[in-house]
Parts: sequence; structure tokens; C-alpha cells
Amino acid sequence: TPPGRIRNFCIIAHIDHGKSTLADRMLQETGVVEQRLMRAQYLDRMDIERERGITIKSQAVRMPWAVGDRTLILNMIDTPGHVDFTYEVSRSLAACEGAVLLVDAAQGIEAQTLANLYLAMENDLTIIPVLNKIDLPSAQPEKYAEELAGLIGCDPAEVLRVSGKTGEGVPELLDHIVDLVPPPVGDAGAPARAMIFDSVYDTYRGVVTYVRVIDGSLSPRERISMMSTRATHELLEIGAISPDPVPSKGLGVGEVGYLITGVKDVRQSKVGDTVTGASRPAQKALGGYKEPRPMVFSGLYPMDGSDYPILRDALDKLKLNDAALVYEPETSAALGFGFRVGFLGMLHLEIVRERLEREFDLDLISTLPNVEYDVVLEDGTHVDVTNPSEFPGGKVGSITEPVVRATVLAPSEFIGAIMELCQSRRGVLRGMDYLSPERVEMRYTLPLAEIVFDFFDALKSKTRGYASLDYEPDGDQEADLVKVDILLQGDTVDAFSAIVHRDKAYAYGVQMATKLKELIPRQQFEVPVQAAIGSRVIARETIRAIRKDVLAKCYGGDISRKRKLLEKQKEGKKRMKMVGSVEVPQEAFIAALSQD
Ligand code: GDP
Ligand code: MG
Repeated sequence: TPPGRIRNFCIIAHIDHGKSTLADRMLQETGVVEQRLMRAQYLDRMDIERERGITIKSQAVRMPWAVGDRTLILNMIDTPGHVDFTYEVSRSLAACEGAVLLVDAAQGIEAQTLANLYLAMENDLTIIPVLNKIDLPSAQPEKYAEELAGLIGCDPAEVLRVSGKTGEGVPELLDHIVDLVPPPVGDAGAPARAMIFDSVYDTYRGVVTYVRVIDGSLSPRERISMMSTRATHELLEIGAISPDPVPSKGLGVGEVGYLITGVKDVRQSKVGDTVTGASRPAQKALGGYKEPRPMVFSGLYPMDGSDYPILRDALDKLKLNDAALVYEPETSAALGFGFRVGFLGMLHLEIVRERLEREFDLDLISTLPNVEYDVVLEDGTHVDVTNPSEFPGGKVGSITEPVVRATVLAPSEFIGAIMELCQSRRGVLRGMDYLSPERVEMRYTLPLAEIVFDFFDALKSKTRGYASLDYEPDGDQEADLVKVDILLQGDTVDAFSAIVHRDKAYAYGVQMATKLKELIPRQQFEVPVQAAIGSRVIARETIRAIRKDVLAKCYGGDISRKRKLLEKQKEGKKRMKMVGSVEVPQEAFIAALSQD
């Protein structure tokens, strides 16, 4: 296809504003998916995406669209909306010339609307502002057209109105895309350069890599090279998705499609990397390749210790499909053998955990998530701490923690509540703007550790659900942090150690000591539960002793009943973990590590 007849665009929006639904309607309008085969969230192929109603992986589909007597090729890229996957969104955007900026006509602009708009502007995309869900009785298209027009600096009349649900306005939107989005430009005669914007592992075909060709062309059977590693592979298959993979004779300037080389691991075909021809390689890679960086760490342990090899194999398998997943073996005195796993964020953690449990039939315990700390000892050596139990024992010079730049959007009546919340999370206000008289944008610098776990829930509950949040990494800062240990009868329970701000150490200690006192059954002896910073105890509870002699209950009773009781006791023992001489039921660990 000549570039003049190609339009590459993506749909960007705040989560739930209707990207996937609009994408579905476009597939239908263009006849790519037949009416009778249509199902909701057509492009969200993973079960977990469909169940949660979210998009995790980007998708690219080629759709024919006739305008007058010309048939154009529209390549639509559906992107994941969540902050954990921002890097993938930004690569998808770099593969396009235009972006449909979708805003829910009953909600207005939200934090990720802004974040995605800024990403699109950084990539010099033509922005097409669109209000969605105009079929809703609560839609306020006039009001929000004005808000959106004000944001991007256009006339409110230029804001299109559609309903992804009913299909109203969708053909007009497709016509607009043809008119407004510039066709791709590139040098057809130059050495091939194609950008990888997604890479997925398929059990049958190995890694399927999604690319956008910038210069030159790629054809089947030629040898290609990955510019970041110089590794070469044979191109076994190349083609476009429409909506299933259709092999072709190659991809040229501006075209979007997939390629298969037979590699078995997505890390050999990384998002952001540049593909070139091995026989006539390009000199310069396309900009933008970035190693995904784990931000949140947690220990994952099988409930049943004998499942450890299954967990190890399961992680190895998931990694084939998830370049961002990192892990290394770890042992815990309390939980046994497991792994310390690094994640992009909490959603990524939840997804990985759910996939491990579902696809590999594992029951897992995860420790309290933490961020990565850089601890500088007094002699100047740096220690990278991703697990609180690795926190160095001796004199510590300084500790730095990652921080984020956060944007909160909310009705202005909630300014006070938001300030209070951010202050309690060690936030520093960086600026505030009114998007309209009743809608405000607040920018904060916050420690990642304070925002990543329950901040969003707290924000939602303080603003009756009206606030939205977006954040991006913004370097590190020094902070007054300490490690709090939890001790049972003088023995540290490694799984409960946490790195917290000094002002919050006492609260954490008291909370854990109280929880454990309730969760751990009485033993034959008294058990002190303590929280300590180094050797200084900051909180203490006591589990009182009992004499539990089950057999005494059936004194003189018949022998079979006695045996039954003994067996029951043995069963219970199996699910007990020993911490020093204290028996702790596994449920107590799970309950104490759960975050509520
Ligand atoms: P995404 O997160 O941006 O991909 O949003 P989805 O496409 O998953 O849509 C989120 C929710 O909004 C779903 O419950 C959709 O059914 C609903 N929705 C999407 N578009 C429309 C629309 O035009 N009208 C109405 N009434 N609901 C819509
Ligand atoms: Mg979606």
C-alpha cells in the first residue's frame, strides 16, 4: 500500500472512557469483524483482560475504509490505559501519526486524559478530540466539549460526538481520521527500520512482534537484526492483523503489522527496539528504547512448600510473555523457599499473581510490597534494598527512596481533602490549575511508597469517587526511613519486616503487634509480640499461655475417637509454621500480610 493511502492512529483516553468499545464499533463499521462474530472487547484477547474489562496489551488492527472511490487502510492501535503500562502506551503512540482523544461525555477530563494527551503531543501526533457515550442520559456534551476545546485549544464545534455503544457518529469519525491524520512519511529506498511497539508470546507460534515500518521494507525469509542487541533472526512470517493474522509479501513505509522469527522469549524482541535488515542494516536506531524498570517488589511463596518447583517453572513461562517481570530466589525463615519478584506497579503485581494462581494452579502467599531503596553506609558503600530483610544492620549514612510526580484532577470542592491526604503521605504541592471554574488540577511530588499501595482508594473515598490520579517516576529523594522488625518471643519474623518513615514506625509496629496477638493462637507458654527498630522495642503485646490438652477431653472415651482427634491435630500441624518455638498457623501469615 502506498503511504498516501495509509492512516495510523490510536485511541487514547482515561480508563473506562470507552476505548475498547469504540474500537469494537470501528471493527464492525469497517466490516473487519462480521456482525455475527462480534463480541465485546474483541481485541482484549486475554481472559484476564476480558474479565476485568481492562486492556493490558496493545493491539493493532488493519481496517479498510472507503472514502469516495478510494479505499484507505486505517491501522488502529488500541493501548493499555493503566499507569503501570505507560511505557507501552508511549511506544504505541510513537507508531502513529494521529490520536483520537476520547472523553466520556458524562465525566469530562480525567487525570489520564491529560497524561495521554501530553504523551501524544510529545510524539507530535494530530489530536482528534471526541466526546463518547453521548447516548447516556447524564451526558453533558456542551459543557465537556467546551472543557476539551479549552484544553487542546480548538473550537468547541470541532469536538466530535460519538457513542461507542450505539455506533452513532462512528462513520463520521472514521472519515475525519482520513481527512485530518497525515499519511506516514518515510524513505522507501533507505535501509529498513521498523519500531517494535509490542511483543507477545504465543504457545504455538513463539513470539509475535508488532512493528511499524518507518523506512525501507521487510520481506519474508530475509534475515533481520535487532538493533539494541545485534542479534539476527530469519523472518519466518510477516503480515497484518485484520482481525486475525494475515501473512503478506512484506511491509513497506508506514505499514503496521506483525512478524514472527521463531524466538521463544519476548526479551529477544523488546518493545521500543528497532528491527533492521541484516544484509543492509540501518546506521541509527529509532529513538525510544527503554528497559522496563520494576518499581514494586514482593516475595511470592507457595502455600505448600513442595510447589516451589512449579512456581519456578511458572515464573519462567510467564517471563517469556512479560519482559518487565524480574525475579530471583529468596528464602524466608517464616515462609520457606520462594521468589522476590519485581513489578511495574500494583496492577502488574495483581495480574502476575492471578495468572500464576489461575494458569498454574498455585496457592501463593505474597509479602507486603515495597519499593526499592538505596542505602548508603557510613563508609560510603551503596546497598540496593528490594527486600526489607536485606536492610543493612550497621550504621546507616543515608537512605533514598523513589518519588513520583502525581497529578490529581477533581472538582474544586475537594481541594482541602486532597491537600490533607497528600500531606499525610509526605506530599509536596508543586502547582495547581483550574481547568474550569469547578475543576482543578493539582500537582504533587510524593514518595512512590506512599502512593503505590492504597493511595488511590483513599483518594477515591475522600472525594466520593470524583478524583482521578496519574503519576510518573520522578527520581529519588533522601528520607528518614527505618526498618521495623516484628519479633515473636525474641525471634524476628522476616516476612513482617518493613521499611517505613520514622514518623510512621510506631503506628506500623502497634498495628502488626495487635494483629498478630489476635491471629496467633495461645501456646503452652507466654509469647511476647514486639515491634522494634534495631534493638529498640517500640511496641509490645503478649499472647497468654494456655494448657491445651485435647486428649484430656476424651479421658476414658473410646480409642477410635481418640485417634481421630490426634489425626485432626496432625493435619492442623501441617499448616503450622514454626517461628523459633512458636507455632504460627499459615492463615495468620496470610491475614497479617493482607493489606486491610
Ligand atoms: P476502556 O477502559 O477505555 O477500554 O473502556 P471500555 O470500552 O472498556 O468501556 C468502559 C465501560 O463503558 C463499559 O462498561 C462500556 O460498556 C461502557 N461504554 C463504552 N462506550 C459507551 C458508550 O458509548 N455509551 C455507553 N452508554 N456506555 C459505553
Ligand atoms: Mg480497554
